[in-house]
Amino acid sequence: MVQARGIMLKENVKTIGHMIRLYTNKNTTLNGTDYPEANNTSDSLAQTVMYLPENFTYSPFLPCPEKLPYMRGLIDVNMSEISLDEIQEMFSKDLDIEPGGHWKPKDGEPRWKVAILIPFRNRHEHLPIFFRHVIPMLQKQRLEFAFYVVEQTGVQPFNRAMLFNIGFKEAMKDGDWDCIIFHDVDHLPENDRNYYGCGEMPRHFAAKLDKYMYILPYNEFFGGVSGLTVEQFKKINGFPNAFWGWGGEDDDLWNRVHYGGYNVTRPEGELGKYKSIPHHHRGEVQFLGRYKLLRYSRERQYIDGLNNLVYTPTILAMRLYTNITVNLVPELAPVEDY
Ligand code: UDP
Ligand code: MN
Repeated sequence: MVQARGIMLKENVKTIGHMIRLYTNKNTTLNGTDYPEANNTSDSLAQTVMYLPENFTYSPFLPCPEKLPYMRGLIDVNMSEISLDEIQEMFSKDLDIEPGGHWKPKDGEPRWKVAILIPFRNRHEHLPIFFRHVIPMLQKQRLEFAFYVVEQTGVQPFNRAMLFNIGFKEAMKDGDWDCIIFHDVDHLPENDRNYYGCGEMPRHFAAKLDKYMYILPYNEFFGGVSGLTVEQFKKINGFPNAFWGWGGEDDDLWNRVHYGGYNVTRPEGELGKYKSIPHHHRGEVQFLGRYKLLRYSRERQYIDGLNNLVYTPTILAMRLYTNITVNLVPELAPVEDY
C-alpha cells in the first residue's frame, strides 16, 4: 500500500532528521536558504510582485485581500520559553483581543472567520510560545480568529482526531466560523504569507517541516496543520474517532477528503515552512492498529466521525483561548459492526 510505505518513510525521515541534528549538534536542521527546491527563487519573486503596496487603503465594507503589505515573508521564530501569564499580560495591551483570543480586523471585513483548534495534553510550555508567534501573524493577515484548546483527560492514549471533532462541535456552538484550522501546538509557521484562510479545497499548510528537513515526507501527508471550510469538514464527517495513540488519523483524513471528492492544496515553496518545538514522547504510545483502520477508511467514513460522537465537555473561557476539557473513552463514539 502506497500510503503505508509513505508513513514508514515519514518515520524514517524523522529518524534521519534526528540523526542530523545529533551530529550537527543543532536544534534546527536547514536554515531556510538551502533547502532543496528548484523553483525556490521564482516562487519568492512571484510572491513579491503580487503583494499589495505599502500605501494600499482598505475598503471598510469589502473583504480584506489575501496578499497584504505587512505580510513580508520569512519571519523569526522565537521558541524561548515564556509563561502563559506573561504572554496574556503582553497581549492584554492589545485591547482588541476579546476573551477566547477572539480578534477581528477593524479596517475591513475579514475574508475568513477562522476557528483555530489545538489538540492538547500536558504541553503547557508550548501554548504561550504558540500564541506569541501566531497571533501577530493572523492579525497581519486580517483574519477574524479565536483559539480552542481541546484538552484530553483520563488514562486513554492521546486521541488527536477525536479532540478535533469535539473542538469543531464546540467552536460551532460558540461562533459563526466558516474556516477551521487543525493545528498542532508545537508547529510554528516560518512565513507570514502562509495565509490561514480556507478555499475551494481542503488545505495542508504544514508542507515543509524542519523536523523532516523541509521535505514533504510523502504526497499523502496531511499532518501538523490543515484547514477545511465548515462545509467541507461536515461533508467528510470529520475525523475518525478510533485512532488512539500516535499516528494514522491524519492519513485517514486525507482519505476522507478524497473520497469526499476533494483535492488538497498546499502553500507554494517557502510559504509552507514550519519549525517545530522539540519535545519528547514520554509515556505516549504509537497506534499499532492504524494500518488496519486505514484499509477500511472508506467503509468507516460515514459510521465513525462527527455523527457518532457524544461527550460532556468542561468549558473555560480564558483570555487567549477557550479551554474545552473532555475525558476521552472509546464509548463516546460507538461504531456498529461493518
Ligand atoms: N499532543 C499533546 N499532548 C500529547 C500528544 C500530542 O498535546 O501528549 C498534541 C499537540 O498539539 C501535538 C500534537 O498533538 O503538537 C501532535 O502530537 P505530537 O507532537 O506528539 O506528534 P509528532 O510531533 O510526533 O508528530
Ligand atoms: Mn510534535
